[in-house]
Amino acid sequence: MTIDLLPPWSEAKCIAWLQGHDDKTLFQTADAVRRQVFGEEVYIRGVIEFTNHCRNRCLYCGLRAPNRKVQRYRLSSAEILTVASRAVEFGIHTIVLQGGEDPAYRSEEIADLIETIRKKYGVAITLSLGEQSAATYRLWREAGADRYLLRMETWSQELYQRLRPGRQWQKRLECLQILHELNYEVGSGFMVGLPGESLADLANSIMGLTKLELDMIGIGPYLVHPETPLRYATNGSLELTLRTLALVRILNPLANMPSTSAMECARRGGRLRGLQVGMNVIMPSLTPENVKELYRIYPGKNAQSDSVEHSVAAVQQMITAAGYHWSDSIGMSPNWLRRNRKIITQSNHITQE
Ligand code: SF4
Repeated sequence: MTIDLLPPWSEAKCIAWLQGHDDKTLFQTADAVRRQVFGEEVYIRGVIEFTNHCRNRCLYCGLRAPNRKVQRYRLSSAEILTVASRAVEFGIHTIVLQGGEDPAYRSEEIADLIETIRKKYGVAITLSLGEQSAATYRLWREAGADRYLLRMETWSQELYQRLRPGRQWQKRLECLQILHELNYEVGSGFMVGLPGESLADLANSIMGLTKLELDMIGIGPYLVHPETPLRYATNGSLELTLRTLALVRILNPLANMPSTSAMECARRGGRLRGLQVGMNVIMPSLTPENVKELYRIYPGKNAQSDSVEHSVAAVQQMITAAGYHWSDSIGMSPNWLRRNRKIITQSNHITQE
């Protein structure tokens, strides 16, 4: 039986591909879609994980507030600026400021930081700082933030309520809506293989996420953290994650999609496999060596205490060896550019069409 890959897809069709109906065709098609839009370019985003404090209690996450075994840290604005300056030295043109939901940083303080980074280094700024008020999202956008990542983690509301106690799926979706209205490049995503997740749930996540017409999509396997209530669960499968990534790429040709560090933690070489099934972004951690191991949302995350130079060089080597190009473009979302009728010049400036 052949099942074609052209959308629209029924749930049954999506599940058949997730079950490994024809991986070769699936992966080749996803790769071809990616090449059509992005060629062989791989966009680089330097991630600064500046706080591992979090007020939330997500059942799957090593940084959850009740985990007393984590040694917590916070970087000062001066430390963050030092890392940002190094990113620019490495030829990285997007900085991702990421952290748990940590009320110790005031919104105004983050806004000042965004403004300073923009003025001093002229890089694009992505924020990944969880659920905030509309006023805070606006403040940060006006300060110069370009992009915001807020993963839904699953489209099953029942699963969401169980795994993220005290948080509401609908509220998170509303946050994405606000971010859209503020004209951020908006990103979301989910985990594959969460405990209790069925293939129908996964198919539902793929189709639900696609309806949002996102600029960035981040998907990775669920990985068990031993210091969480889910310590006896099993890891999400890398194969299933690869199929999911390929399907999402085919449905979302214009989205920037990272091959995440969770792929590499699931299996050595996993990040490269992600590139081969249509991903076009890599996000090396630039968090200072003395704290980067402490940002352990899942085991293996930032486990190598390599210097930032080594991590960046390793990523560069992996990209080149696999036949792709490390792009020095600012790497904006084609979706966002189309919505705003803008183009990027060769010197990375944005102009009106
Ligand atoms: S997943 Fe994010 S919001 Fe949830 S506990 Fe971890 S850092 Fe906090």
